[in-house]
Amino acid sequence: MNNQDAAKKKVAIIGAGVTGINAAWKLIDLGYDVDVFEKRDVVGGVGTSVMKNGYAFEYGPHLFHTAFDDILDDFKELMKNEPYEKTILDRQIKYMGKNYKYPLKLINVLKGLGFLTSIKCGFSFSYSHLKLKLGLTRDNTAEDWFINRFGKVGYEIYFKDYTKKVWGIDPTDLSPIFTNSRIPTISIRKMIKELLVPKKTIIKETDNEGDHIYAPDINYIYYPHKGMWVLTDKIKDKVLEKGGRVHYGADVKKINFQDSFAKSIDFSIKGVEQTQEFDYIISTIPLKGIIHLIGLEKPEDVIEASERLKHRAIVVACLVINKPKVIDAQVLYFNDKNFNRVTEPKNLGLKVDPDSHTVILVEFTCDVGDDVWNNSEKYSDYVIDELIKEKLITKEEILSAHTIKYPHAYPIYSIGYEQRLKSIEKFFSRFPNLYTTGRQGLFTYVDKDICMKMGKILADYINDGNDMKQDIPDIGGEKVFF
Ligand SMILES: Cc1cc2nc3c(=O)[nH]c(=O)nc-3n(C[C@H](O)[C@H](O)[C@H](O)COP(=O)(O)OP(=O)(O)OC[C@H]3O[C@@H](n4cnc5c(N)ncnc54)[C@H](O)[C@@H]3O)c2cc1C
Repeated sequence: MNNQDAAKKKVAIIGAGVTGINAAWKLIDLGYDVDVFEKRDVVGGVGTSVMKNGYAFEYGPHLFHTAFDDILDDFKELMKNEPYEKTILDRQIKYMGKNYKYPLKLINVLKGLGFLTSIKCGFSFSYSHLKLKLGLTRDNTAEDWFINRFGKVGYEIYFKDYTKKVWGIDPTDLSPIFTNSRIPTISIRKMIKELLVPKKTIIKETDNEGDHIYAPDINYIYYPHKGMWVLTDKIKDKVLEKGGRVHYGADVKKINFQDSFAKSIDFSIKGVEQTQEFDYIISTIPLKGIIHLIGLEKPEDVIEASERLKHRAIVVACLVINKPKVIDAQVLYFNDKNFNRVTEPKNLGLKVDPDSHTVILVEFTCDVGDDVWNNSEKYSDYVIDELIKEKLITKEEILSAHTIKYPHAYPIYSIGYEQRLKSIEKFFSRFPNLYTTGRQGLFTYVDKDICMKMGKILADYINDGNDMKQDIPDIGGEKVFF
């Protein structure tokens, strides 16, 4: 059933990242009257680019890929007049002094380890696989998951320290749900096939679902020549063309209710306080933020749960280099440095003007308020020193250095996070016309295409008149909204 009164219905969307702005586009297409409230002065959230002196910097590597045909169609429609590159993903890892394809292939792992450690690794891998097959072990933590899939020796060499560096907590404190749904496993059959069967040319433009839709086998990646900001900017143009409104610098203060129905929003823009009524309110901001805005009494356990859902922040050192190219990959991982990886967006498709310059992005994951977050320039200097040591750049080639930061980069799936989310989900089920969705709104580790899909599914759900939060749709078994 289509909602015949769509034209009269007003929707507020809080947060103009990929999820929020795409939901706005889809709702406007269905005839809704949409206002988007964004606290910053740009759309795109963590998925946009920060422009400095004409150069586009992103929060780490941002490439578009998707397993959904309709989302790829949307991407192409948005890019109708914007050139973009379609390439094969080329990630590498600097390992034992040499660059290898990332993730590491078994043969390279064995070469690097030497004979004795390889044998130990092989035994430990087989022992773990056997135990798992016989049901003699369980995944209680991410550490268990790694050991059960890769063996204890492999886990200690490859995953233990890297996981701690990225997530800031020990793998024993990380939920196995994360590893299970977001990390591809080693399949012996697949490894043997890779060794024996020559790779066929890829014709499929979308991803293969692989083990899990949230960690697909990527066939092609897409990247706009001007930078990833173009994607959300084009969606924003669609919203504005069709009469939608995006309010920048919006300070949303409170959501007012009548019984369990969200009725209006108190907000201020440039110091002017206002209240507006809406039929539906969609939040795409972090859960702690939206729960705080709900103008009703909140159960203690819900407040506590939202406070214990922590994010890992990101600091990116962005360097402009006076040479056409720095690395021979799109992304280069390092497991022996304090930073995680180096990205050269030019190798993804970014056009840098002049072409004799390039841009590189070097990421640190950190916590808001720690030394990396507070003293990011110091870490930018560390990056420069390390890249000089690696002979990737020289001091003279550096034209400028900047740092950019985002507080809610990665949701930390710590042990017990799923129970915390459950109590929040139950709380939101009370409110038929208030939805929380997206990477922040669901505290979920997803890519842009899934965020776009979530916005689209939610728009259709509202339009189908399913206002009572019955039969909430899912993607790969995970709910699209609470
Ligand atoms: C390092 C890194 C690399 C990534 N690489 C890729 C990749 O290669 N490919 C890919 O597809 N995806 C990638 N992703 C994931 C992708 O960027 C995100 O999933 C997506 O951009 C999240 O969009 P969102 O709208 O859900 O959240 P966000 O982008 O966080 O948007 C939330 C918005 O809400 C606004 N907001 C917050 N609080 C308030 C408030 N109180 N009032 C109003 N507005 C508010 C924020 O300013 C922001 O604009 C990457 C993510 C990271 C961190």
